[in-house]
Amino acid sequence: MLEEGGRIPYDKCIYALGASCFVPPFKGVDKKGVFVTRTVEDFEKIRRAMAAAHHAVIVGGGVIGLEMAHELNQLDCHVTVLEAAPRVIGRLIDEESAELLTQIICERGIEIHTGVQIAGIEGEESVSGVSLSDGTVFPADVVIISCGIRANIQPALQSGIQCDRGVLVNSYMETSLPDVYAAGDCIQGDSINPGLWRYALRSAQTAAKNAVSEREKEEFIPLPETVIMSVADTSLFICGSTEIQEGTRTEVIREKNGKQKVFKVNRQPGAAVTYEKRFYDHKGLKGAVLIGDLGSLAEVKSKIEGR
Ligand SMILES: Cc1cc2nc3c(=O)[nH]c(=O)nc-3n(C[C@H](O)[C@H](O)[C@H](O)COP(=O)(O)OP(=O)(O)OC[C@H]3O[C@@H](n4cnc5c(N)ncnc54)[C@H](O)[C@@H]3O)c2cc1C
Repeated sequence: MLEEGGRIPYDKCIYALGASCFVPPFKGVDKKGVFVTRTVEDFEKIRRAMAAAHHAVIVGGGVIGLEMAHELNQLDCHVTVLEAAPRVIGRLIDEESAELLTQIICERGIEIHTGVQIAGIEGEESVSGVSLSDGTVFPADVVIISCGIRANIQPALQSGIQCDRGVLVNSYMETSLPDVYAAGDCIQGDSINPGLWRYALRSAQTAAKNAVSEREKEEFIPLPETVIMSVADTSLFICGSTEIQEGTRTEVIREKNGKQKVFKVNRQPGAAVTYEKRFYDHKGLKGAVLIGDLGSLAEVKSKIEGR
């Protein structure tokens, strides 16, 4: 059923409404100068606001927050990243890799503060700063909220489809409503939805196949997560699980002239960095972080995916 009236009949329906930016209920989030990062329009608004901005604060040190920090820093704007967790991109990388990444970014003049608690967004009609619970205030003409996403479940809920944090699906991408499938950022299945393209695409392929051919049902098997980004002119590739649990073995190496050597991070400001860390469990390579030289990307990716 459409909001403006009318109905579109279906034999099979695929619900793929994606997600929206999560905006924590901070005091002052509705002030002029506070933005989110989801749609082209969001980025257009940020671009216009940046024309007169001197200080930008990014709330959230995830992949998108850090990429935004780098882009805004290029515009001669002082950029501060405020992250609640103890480290940046905390869901995806380990402490050591996060520390190196933080160092590379900070060398470009970007400030990063982790483990902080935001008290609110300051200003009258327009934003003037972001305050922490310890009383520190970071001046800001532009504040970007980059605190992750929330699945768009409202229309599903209204249709009686079972939802939790996302639209609940089984391994065939079937929802609780007959003939209705779901895919992408909006779903909640057996595995964690990373809110990434490959997961969205594979879940959509499964939903589409099962919607047209019910006799040979296909199960959704997500590939290991991969993230590739460039920040502070440095490439970063993360693949698989970098979680350090009991039984996890890690190895920090760099590849030089075909030989793998024990790696010592070059901590000179501005130095080119080549960092590679591999994570193993009893089944072999389970995850990797590459910073700088991504030469072994294909090798680690195929090993991790081929487990
Ligand atoms: C800034 C940004 C950078 C990203 N970078 C990467 C990256 O580098 N690598 C990566 O793997 N992933 C990245 N992602 C994530 C990736 O874009 C998503 O995982 C992917 O787009 C999810 O696809 P989707 O179809 O589920 O949702 P979406 O792409 O969000 O599509 C959902 C669509 O549904 C529409 N919609 C919502 N509600 C309604 C409604 N009520 N009626 C009709 N239509 C509606 C929306 O307008 C939207 O067009 C990024 C995301 C963002 C925001």
